[in-house]
Amino acid sequence: MANTRVIIVGAGIAGPVLAVFLKTRGYDPIIYERLPGPGEGGLGFTLQPNGLRVLSLIPKLLEQIPGHSPERMIHCSCLDGKEDILIDNDISPATMRERFGFPVIGVRRPEFQRLLIDTAEEHGIEIKWGHHAIAFEQSEDAVEITFTNGAKDTASFVVGCDGLHSNTRTALFGVEKADFTGMVRVGGWSPTPPALQGNIAMVNNYGEGRHMIAYPIAEDKYSWAISTLGAEAKEDWRTQTAEQQNEIRNGPLSAWGFGAGDLVKTGQKIVKYGLYDRPELNSWFKGRVVLLGDAAHPTSPHLGQGANQAFEDIYHFMRLLRKHNPSAGQLSTELLSQVFTDYQDLRLPRTSELVKGSRRQGEIRVVEGIDACRARDEAIRAGFNGDAARRARDELLSGPFTSSEM
Ligand SMILES: Cc1cc2nc3c(=O)[nH]c(=O)nc-3n(C[C@H](O)[C@H](O)[C@H](O)COP(=O)(O)OP(=O)(O)OC[C@H]3O[C@@H](n4cnc5c(N)ncnc54)[C@H](O)[C@@H]3O)c2cc1C
Repeated sequence: MANTRVIIVGAGIAGPVLAVFLKTRGYDPIIYERLPGPGEGGLGFTLQPNGLRVLSLIPKLLEQIPGHSPERMIHCSCLDGKEDILIDNDISPATMRERFGFPVIGVRRPEFQRLLIDTAEEHGIEIKWGHHAIAFEQSEDAVEITFTNGAKDTASFVVGCDGLHSNTRTALFGVEKADFTGMVRVGGWSPTPPALQGNIAMVNNYGEGRHMIAYPIAEDKYSWAISTLGAEAKEDWRTQTAEQQNEIRNGPLSAWGFGAGDLVKTGQKIVKYGLYDRPELNSWFKGRVVLLGDAAHPTSPHLGQGANQAFEDIYHFMRLLRKHNPSAGQLSTELLSQVFTDYQDLRLPRTSELVKGSRRQGEIRVVEGIDACRARDEAIRAGFNGDAARRARDELLSGPFTSSEM
């Protein structure tokens, strides 16, 4: 009998990884992606131990990740021209491996996505580029998807990995505007500035009405992004015009301390984008169609967990598929419903808590007025190393399994 066919909508970050696990567990996945090919869009993100733990289940993938690990995590503040280190922690690969089994790796999103696409293709998975899914029609034992170019395809079930602006989500639960958080980011890539050479750190830099995150993505390169309050800006990852980039490079941010100003001055491919999330849904599936990753729980970036939580979704989704359908055979709608219900009951509350936590983190970091900024700095100095905060962080980074049941 033919393997159970699965359509994945979206070849971003979650789609290719899910496809590899489905394929290696006996399913027949195909990916449809709206864009014409792997793009250059986006800056970077960090792969944390919980995300890497899931990726480690794909043989030889971790060794190929194009990125770089920081040695330290520094939180510093520049107020009134004074520079102050609030926190300086060891997060070197050796320390993180000892505590969590995996390091932290900063990656450029386009390069990392390219690796995931190549890995999926090496596993014999077909990716159909230039296919924008628009309509989903469900019958007793299948789903038919229609694309804006007129193509159609059918599968036993569909996983919507189509990100913040997911049409799969809209098809299941109706149109709902993404929630603008009131914050915008400006960011780019830069050569490692002199202040950070020899001290490769992930830096959280706090100023008045702004916060910068910067981390290495290569031996000699940093990715950085500055959050401020601002008017709504599209999240389309388009590079700013040459004129706009020069304005940012030469603007007031270029005078920032702790190497931040140097990153701004030398920034390449500078983008500006609004920060969005969405309120939690009551459910992540209908019939034979289910959501995963940003399509289910898009988040603002302040906890650095977007991609990592998508990988945790994948782990639990695959674990539950195996539990309920060990033969990977055709699934009745009732059986699928059991898998999807268990998956959503586990993941929905967890991710919802993180989406809210991330928004809160942004609001704590970006405050206006010198007194509020001083209070923020003291709270960060005290809070980050508090017992409760440490326990929550350790628990997060230790997920989603100790011994894989996938
Ligand atoms: C171009 C781009 C750049 C990004 N850059 C960053 C960044 O610099 N830093 C950061 O923290 N996060 C970035 N993100 C978001 C980040 O990738 C996700 O938060 C996270 O990795 C979860 O991945 P995902 O696969 O769920 O969603 P995504 O990575 O967003 O992938 C969704 C994919 O679905 C495709 N898609 C959307 N609608 C349809 C449709 N109807 N039919 C077919 N395909 C569709 C999209 O083109 C995209 O490839 C970016 C996302 C995109 C799309």
